[in-house]
This record gives sequence, C-alpha cells and structure tokens, in this order.
Amino acid sequence: MLKNKVAIVTGGTRGIGYAIVKKYLENGAKVILFGSREETVSKALQSLKEENANWIVEGAYPNLSDADAVEKEINAIAEKYGRVDVLVNNAGISDSTKIDDYQPGGFEKVMNLNVLALYNTIKPSVKVMKQQGGGCIINMSSMVSKFGQPGGVAYPTSKFAVNGMTVSLARELGPDQIRVNAVAPGVTRTDMVAALPEEMIAPLVARIPLRRIGEPEDIANACLFLASDLASYVTGEILSVDGATMS
Ligand code: NAD
Repeated sequence: MLKNKVAIVTGGTRGIGYAIVKKYLENGAKVILFGSREETVSKALQSLKEENANWIVEGAYPNLSDADAVEKEINAIAEKYGRVDVLVNNAGISDSTKIDDYQPGGFEKVMNLNVLALYNTIKPSVKVMKQQGGGCIINMSSMVSKFGQPGGVAYPTSKFAVNGMTVSLARELGPDQIRVNAVAPGVTRTDMVAALPEEMIAPLVARIPLRRIGEPEDIANACLFLASDLASYVTGEILSVDGATMS
C-alpha cells in the first residue's frame, strides 16, 4: 500500500510509533524513524532489521524543539531519498499534574513536544512536499482532544491544538495536494498502560463498547490507511480509533 513511499515517523522507537514504522515497512515504504536518543534509536533499528533485513529503515534523533536541527535533518532526508511522501508526528508526552502542582516550565514542556515540535517538522516537510507536488501529514492526537481529562491540563490542551493545526493546515495545503489528518487513539496498550494493574484496566474496558483497550497495531492500521492512496480524498479528518470510548 505504500510501495516506495518515503516516510518519517517521529517517536518511532517504541509503542504506537514503532508499530507504525513496522506497518509502513511491511507495506513497502522506506522509513526514517526519529527518537529522542541514539541508544533507543539503535535498539529499535536493530529489532526491525532482525524482523526483516531487507527493510529500508534508518534513524535519527534531532531535538524536536530545535527548529534548525529538525530542518537540517529533514532536508538531508529529502536530499538522500529525493522526496518525503509521509510525515507522521507521533512523538508525544502525557501529563497528569494537577493544576496546583505545576512547576515553572512543566506546562511548556508538554506543549513544546506535543505542539511546537509538530510545527517544526511540518514546516520543512511542506517545503519538500510542495516541490514534489504533494504529500501526506498525520498528527497523533488523542481521545482527550474531545473529552478533556481531569488533571494534566497541558496534555488535553496540546491535543486540542493538534486538532486545530490539522484542520487548519488541511485547508491551507489542500491546493498543494498535501493531505493533513490526525488519528485520535483511545487508551492503547503501550509500555505506560501495560504497567497498570488489572483492577485499573477493568473499569476502563467496561466503558468501551468494543470491550477492550486499543493495541498499537489498531492505531498503525489507521495510519496506514491515511498514508495510502485509499485515503486520497480524506483530509482535515480527526479519526477516532478508540472503540467508541465514552467519556
Ligand atoms: P510512548 O511513551 O510509548 O512513546 C513515545 C515516543 O515519543 C517514543 O518513541 C519516544 O522516543 C518519543 N519521545 C518522547 N519524548 C520525546 C522527546 N522529548 N523528543 C523526541 N521524541 C520523544 O508513547 P505512546 O503511547 O506510543 O504514544 C505515542 C503518541 O500517541 C503520543 O503522541 C501520545 O500522546 C498518543 N496517544 C497515546 C495513547 C495511549 O494510550 N498510549 C492514547 C492517545 C494518544
């Protein structure tokens, strides 16, 4: 479904991002995964190469808050591969700090990675996509972008902003044949959730009509669809992948 497309996936070293990288590789894409540290990037690359030595995948770890560093990296990728077809902005951090407990910089830390970093990756990618006549951007939102959450207000605030950036850029970049969509996962079984005890998971599951939490592959499948030509007329969409979770 993605034969020969060149895709960048941020936060591709573990969890949802790793599942997206693997799904894209299985579907013929060449993937550059971004992580935060050399060590975790190498580990992810090693495990992907063990799965299939023929996959074309490499890694980088630019500081996503540093616009210049990100631009340099994306330009180098465009130079090497000749194009950037898909950008998946998946890297993100969650937050559960109560409003009274926020320390200086705490709110900004979440906004910097969950919002500003998206702007930093999108800007240079759009330049390349315009030159090549089109492309596709997928931003990772969350179900909290619809429901909010009681605590860690920076996190839902950032994901509402992700939705706003997504629909606005879809309108701005549509004439350039650049599609911009977001995926809004519900609770998904990544390291963070796997560590929760069963007694915390059970009440969550009871409120989900499909009666299970999401798997990283559920989210990766949505990202595969949105990146593929099957979604050629889909833009400005915030696609919930949450089993119809209720607030
Ligand atoms: P995770 O913590 O397992 O992985 C996060 C990824 O982001 C990692 O690859 C990590 O390297 C990267 N990252 C973290 N901080 C970084 C930084 N400062 N610079 C660069 N990269 C950094 O998380 P996940 O559960 O796989 O979440 C991925 C995305 O999905 C996030 O945007 C998250 O908000 C969203 N999401 C997750 C869930 C869930 O239940 N897991 C639900 C809704 C939305």
